[in-house]
Amino acid sequence: MPEILINGQKIEARAGQTVLEVALANGIFVPTFCWHPQLSTAGNCRMCLVEVEGRGLDIACNMPVTAGMNVFTDSAEVKAHRKAMLQFITLNHPVDCGICDKAGECSLQDYHYAYNGESSLSVEPKVRSTKYYNLSSRILLDNERCILCLRCTRFTHEVSKSMALGVERRGDVSNIRPVADRPLGEDPYSDNIVDLCPVGALQSRTFLHKTRVWYLKATPSVCPGCERGCTVQIWHRKPEWYVKALDPAQNTTIARVTPLENPAVNGPWICNKGRDLARIFERKRAVEPMLKGQPATLEAALESARELIGAARHPVALLSNWGSNEELAAFQQYLGAVFTAHVKCDAEPEPGERVEDDLLIRADKNPNTAGARALFGATPPLLPEGTDLVLVWAEGFDFATLPRGARTISLNAFLRPENGHADVFLPTTLQTERHGHYTNFQGVVSEFQPCFPRPAGAADAEALFRALAAPARVHA
Ligand code: SF4
Ligand code: SF4
Repeated sequence: MPEILINGQKIEARAGQTVLEVALANGIFVPTFCWHPQLSTAGNCRMCLVEVEGRGLDIACNMPVTAGMNVFTDSAEVKAHRKAMLQFITLNHPVDCGICDKAGECSLQDYHYAYNGESSLSVEPKVRSTKYYNLSSRILLDNERCILCLRCTRFTHEVSKSMALGVERRGDVSNIRPVADRPLGEDPYSDNIVDLCPVGALQSRTFLHKTRVWYLKATPSVCPGCERGCTVQIWHRKPEWYVKALDPAQNTTIARVTPLENPAVNGPWICNKGRDLARIFERKRAVEPMLKGQPATLEAALESARELIGAARHPVALLSNWGSNEELAAFQQYLGAVFTAHVKCDAEPEPGERVEDDLLIRADKNPNTAGARALFGATPPLLPEGTDLVLVWAEGFDFATLPRGARTISLNAFLRPENGHADVFLPTTLQTERHGHYTNFQGVVSEFQPCFPRPAGAADAEALFRALAAPARVHA
């Protein structure tokens, strides 16, 4: 355990650590652009320069600790070099902050004000470059803003392994460019480079110029796109910044989705499907209870459902593997003794979707198969001869396979043609409207929190199961 001094503080380091790792682990901030804990060391931005007694200045990200080192992270010489580096990095960088999506979370902006803060020393015109280079259908590149930290290229070489990006030419005309025959559009993890880019050079097309980050709030959630259950942040408008005159739908839509770092599940990454949760959650909603396709009050629909349950001799429930642990437990508590329950598979891989790989993506495209099976077993959903009532919770069931004469109670959050075929239909809330937990395939339980108010007419499945367990009224 080599002992070193950083800014006069004695620190026990682990053998093999770098000075940067030791400093960050001990709460001593050192600025970086190119360094990232999950990527190889590039050492090209020179922002993490520190001074070592007897050795002078060097980059902390590539400096192994040795016993007795005396390191200074904020000496006058370090500050002068940081300032010079920022002058150099901003030499050709446009002053785009007013229209740049990264403004508000840009390290270059932050470090400029923290360590430089002065106008450019250069009297030469800035070198211009491509402003909107089309990297894929999802990502645009602004080469003028790029500081050539090479985080994006290293990500495609070391993490996603698509090898889709490289650098062409040298000096002030160097550009990030796609590699021929390796389209970034085929990399299902490509959008991680937008987060990785320390400046606003890589831009998500779905987020481009839609809002400013300081109007947004991030709510912790879980991606339901597969049984990995990556933890994510769902970004949406802060209530204090709700728009009134413009389209108020903006107040309750997902602005973007980013990873919520979680070493036990997904590290700092997610796949592109996780970025596109709006495609799943913002489908047309079902908000009206129905009796055989006709609108009904919630009370009338619940009463009819209770009558069907009371009259059934062989009721079967097909439970959702998108249900939260809390909802599944509520079903077991209130209706578990009444129904023979099976866990169905709500979602299958979509055409063209990567089914499985050895990074994150799993073949089971449902978030809570493990949680549901822990309560209800893994027997395949069966509707044996004689089944006279089927409760179908959420998606993934073909109503054409119902046993002849069986009555149906259906619960779903989305507007689907089959909703009208059920004897009783009950609209439910979405994950973004309630609190709960999913258990992933490794047994890790992750929490999601609500970001939007529930629409009038939709109820939590937990409340519906409790209401369905109440005795049906006796008619005179
Ligand atoms: S595009 Fe962004 S991440 Fe890629 S090299 Fe340029 S600054 Fe770095
Ligand atoms: S790997 Fe699975 S859980 Fe993770 S973001 Fe992609 S679809 Fe969602």
